[in-house]
Amino acid sequence: VLHLRQFQKSSAGVFLDACALHRHAAAPAAADGSGASTRATRRSVTVGGQRVRTVDVHAHVVFQESAEICRGTPLEKKIAHQVKGRMARPVDEQRIEELDKMGIDVSAMSVNALWYSADEALATRLIAVQNQKLAALAASYPDRFACYASVALQFPELAAKQLEYAIKALGLCGVAVGGSVEGEELASRRFDPFWAKAEELQALVFIHPQQDAKYLRSQRMDGNGALDNVIGNPLETTYALAHLILEGTFDRFPNLRVCGAHGGGYLPSYPDRMDHAAKVFPKKCQTPVLKKKPSEYLKQIFVDTLVFSPEALRHLVAVCGAAQLMIGTDFPVGWVDECIDPILETPGLSDADKIAILGGTAARLLKLDKRN
Ligand SMILES: [Zn+2]
Repeated sequence: VLHLRQFQKSSAGVFLDACALHRHAAAPAAADGSGASTRATRRSVTVGGQRVRTVDVHAHVVFQESAEICRGTPLEKKIAHQVKGRMARPVDEQRIEELDKMGIDVSAMSVNALWYSADEALATRLIAVQNQKLAALAASYPDRFACYASVALQFPELAAKQLEYAIKALGLCGVAVGGSVEGEELASRRFDPFWAKAEELQALVFIHPQQDAKYLRSQRMDGNGALDNVIGNPLETTYALAHLILEGTFDRFPNLRVCGAHGGGYLPSYPDRMDHAAKVFPKKCQTPVLKKKPSEYLKQIFVDTLVFSPEALRHLVAVCGAAQLMIGTDFPVGWVDECIDPILETPGLSDADKIAILGGTAARLLKLDKRN
């Protein structure tokens, strides 16, 4: 079925490249001891006859060591839960096989930042170990994985130092942060040392919601349909990005590279309301005075493609621009099996747009060609 489906896709520029398997040197031998590759197929994505290196900027990983470090601390329960969930899938050959089938060449992984309530000693220890593990992971499969740094954003100066070390000494590809710091907006001036360092290093800052019930959830998200995730996660990103725009963070740090998970949440769905509020309620929208219309900042924010359909992608392109989109899968949570075709099928995209979204922009922002 896979072969037939892939063959049928050939007119869209996709074909199977079963011979081009790249087996990592550390890969285990097949179960039968033959040493043969257990990887049946690797989807090879082409656009206009050109092989494209596809890059997923939104994937997850957790480390069991985090739970050990947090044992006996106030973080124990939260982190123990995190390392048992869907994100606890090991990074191994089987994971690579699934990426092969999906057509993902490089998967950029991060650890969800559930440590913002930790004291400085615990946060320092946890981040140091995590970033070492992330760096080792990226180094062990350099052509398949990249990793974002973790930082203790509740201590902004420390976070700036952790970021600098992670990028310069450990070779990590960017930095992942939550949608707030225990309810404090990322746009708070307190976090300016972190934003300044991220801008200086030109590090991609990936904003991912933390599902922290204390600050965002309400009983209206109970009931059928997983609304805490369906509505809650994009809402958290929406708040974070809206405040970064409206509090002037992008004016103070105009060269920031920020990527919002899940298509940037709801903000790109309804950005004009921010612009009109400035006309209808001017007194509420003048401190600070922004350099641009609020909606225009969406053209400098990056978002992932985790919106499920070509039509939703078409809208994101219309609002943000094709140059601002990068593949997001949420792997291994399981939101999408198919992340390439919706991009290839999005109406109105040129080949150059498709190449940029599939991996060109991410390779540049994550500096994939400079790290090896
Ligand atoms: Zn995610």
